[in-house]
Amino acid sequence: MRTLPRLGLSPIPMHCVAITSWRSSARLNEPAVMVGAARHRVKRAAGYPRGMCRVCMKRPEIPDERYGRCEQCAKAGRNAFRFRLFPARGGAGFTVKAGELSPHALGQKWRAPLNAYKGHLTTKTNLGLHELEMVTAKERVESLRIAPDLAGHDEEVVAALHDAAERTDSAW
Ligand SMILES: [Zn+2]
Repeated sequence: MRTLPRLGLSPIPMHCVAITSWRSSARLNEPAVMVGAARHRVKRAAGYPRGMCRVCMKRPEIPDERYGRCEQCAKAGRNAFRFRLFPARGGAGFTVKAGELSPHALGQKWRAPLNAYKGHLTTKTNLGLHELEMVTAKERVESLRIAPDLAGHDEEVVAALHDAAERTDSAW
């Protein structure tokens, strides 16, 4: 496992770094998953227990299910989209730097449901540094999960996601 660079000290522009290269993903041997563009098949992001549903993380996934879900979550139309935040340049708060949805797709489909979401953020230890996961159920946002390092920054995290949904770029 590579040591993560301290904030702001990395020589590499963070938005150019493939998500999975940040963490130990050797066993997955897969290219980056959060590149923004739509994919025909969602690849398993690092940090998900293998064989378990990536939405509920409780039940076994259906083999070869497109989104790595269990039967119950697939039937309920639930899904999980992961994003990586980064401290906003020159100020407080965060900005989305990568995601399993493109900014355009996020805005088109999830801007209104995100604005309607009034729930709390829950902390999940399986999420990597600065990661945020949006869990959806059919047309609505069901929950937002954040990595332990983002705990206590609820307002900034939600603001970053709202800002991201206002972007119209095709890539982060
Ligand atoms: Zn499930």
